Amino acid sequence: VPSLEVHRLAYAYPDGTQALFGVDFRVGRGERVALLGPNGAGKTTLVMHLNGILTAGHGTVTVAGMPVEKGTLREIRRRVGLVFQDPDDQLFMPTVREDVAFGPANLGVTGEELAFRVKDALERVGMLEAIDRPPHHLSFGQRRRVAVATVLAMEPEILVLDEPSSNLDPASRRELAEILRGLDVTILMVTHDLPYALELCERALILSGGVIAADGPTREILSDA
Ligand code: ADP
Ligand code: ADP
Repeated sequence: VPSLEVHRLAYAYPDGTQALFGVDFRVGRGERVALLGPNGAGKTTLVMHLNGILTAGHGTVTVAGMPVEKGTLREIRRRVGLVFQDPDDQLFMPTVREDVAFGPANLGVTGEELAFRVKDALERVGMLEAIDRPPHHLSFGQRRRVAVATVLAMEPEILVLDEPSSNLDPASRRELAEILRGLDVTILMVTHDLPYALELCERALILSGGVIAADGPTREILSDA
């Protein structure tokens, strides 16, 4: 079963703007895929369909075999881990530990299992030593890594990152690339950073004018672009 399957997805906003025109692709388990495309291409609209913030006008979105629809949203939001562009939209608790625990605790995870999930997620992003610190004392790059941990603690099927390399200095940028490459999780990454896409994603999709204009190995896609 693929991690993500988008089938003939079309969507028009209430004002009539047609943002997606029959988008089709699948992402296999463990793949890392870059979603590229100019402003206004429909990338945000597509991502909002992946966890049911928007629901399909036409077509379907399926996450690990489960359709995104009203009755499945709770489970879908556990399976689709969104990492926002701004980590400060994701971190709001007094300590890193509480921020990372928030999602799984909300799902009913408690006790040793919760403690394990928090430590494991922080370890995977190299931030375990910050567990008792307030997020606002950390650097921007560290906050972005903690934001990734808050999502990993939910044990998602797919990690969806919005511009993960934005506002990072070269060292933090490299560090995050290393971390993302080491996670054995399916990744869909929205980015304008072509070198980052090339470095991290074996495959790229180009969305343009609400349709998939290209889908293939990142190196080939970028040399044609
Ligand atoms: P991207 O993320 O690739 O920049 P978007 O998904 O934000 O693209 O936008 C796709 C299209 O939908 C654009 O034409 C944009 O102007 C339009 N759009 C986005 N949000 C809305 C909205 N809330 N109402 C009407 N049109 C919108
Ligand atoms: P299917 O269920 O066969 O996969 P869809 O339900 O996605 O197909 O689309 C059915 C028909 O409606 C197709 O002919 C398609 O081109 C058309 N269609 C899909 N989305 C839109 C849309 N937003 N506006 C108008 N027509 C659409």
